[in-house]
Amino acid sequence: MKDSIGFIGLGNMGEHMACRLLNADYKLRVFDIREEAIATLVNRGAIAATSPAAVASEVKTVILSLPTPEIVKEVALGSKGVIAGTKVKTLVDLSTIGPQTAQEISIGLAAEGIDLVDSPVSGGVAGAQSGTLAVMVSCPDQQFSELRKMLSSIGNVFHVGTAPGHGQIMKLANNLLSAAALAISSEAMVMGVKAGLNPHIMLEVINAGSGRNTATHDKFPNAILPRSFDRGFANGLMHKDVELYLKEAEALEVPTEVACAVEQLWQTACSEIGPEADFTTIVQCVEIRAGVEVK
Ligand code: NAD
Repeated sequence: MKDSIGFIGLGNMGEHMACRLLNADYKLRVFDIREEAIATLVNRGAIAATSPAAVASEVKTVILSLPTPEIVKEVALGSKGVIAGTKVKTLVDLSTIGPQTAQEISIGLAAEGIDLVDSPVSGGVAGAQSGTLAVMVSCPDQQFSELRKMLSSIGNVFHVGTAPGHGQIMKLANNLLSAAALAISSEAMVMGVKAGLNPHIMLEVINAGSGRNTATHDKFPNAILPRSFDRGFANGLMHKDVELYLKEAEALEVPTEVACAVEQLWQTACSEIGPEADFTTIVQCVEIRAGVEVK
């Protein structure tokens, strides 16, 4: 049996990543606000804890996979947060929270001698399940060497920078591309179908041609054409990622014309389809206006 690790946030991504760590023989202390999420991991061999502070009083390394910057901040720095733990030395955050929040949390934790390792992930629920995520680690070299083996249980590990926030910048650039690909592919597919093309043949052509992207390769054939809308990532979370991108690009004075258009369509998906709905439902915003369905 390897080291004991803490894992907080056992949702669409966290549950699978925690299971992979258990399968790799790590002992896990787990916490989530949902009892049923804890129970699933306890059934797989993890030990339940009653708060983030309780997790952080049992282990030296705690991992987070939580939805929003506000929640990560509370779980890291709140009165029952990781910072109140008596044993923790390193907090590895796999969530997407933007560079500014990562830096704030890093400063807050440093006051208690705890290091933040900014380490967002990409690859979706399927990647979390199969251990093929892109893991974008930002921390000093020595710490990276220490964490590499453990993080390789959840995916392909990249050392993208040394300071908190570099991982977040990498992730926001990646997710803007993913968000843009799905938004623009929705418009192109709806246009083709309304003009009378078969969407299956459209995808075959696009994926053999220069329009190929993650939406045409994966989301359209596997979740939109079958109308299952089940990739396991919420509209609200993708909208958060694009908003975080815009905030950062504006601060860096980098043009955002296309990113602003992408943000608007995700805003529409949140208000018309719902923030909890799967992000592949963004196509429905275009379908409703065009009066056709891609199926
Ligand atoms: P999710 O909403 O499915 O899971 C979040 C989990 O955190 C839930 O189990 C929830 O109960 C728990 N939680 C919420 N508040 C809590 C608190 N105060 N204390 C403890 N637990 C709390 O989200 P997800 O899709 O698993 O995403 C997690 C993070 O990973 C997000 O930052 C997201 O942007 C990022 N991400 C998601 C995907 C994806 O495809 N789903 C891919 C890459 C990155």
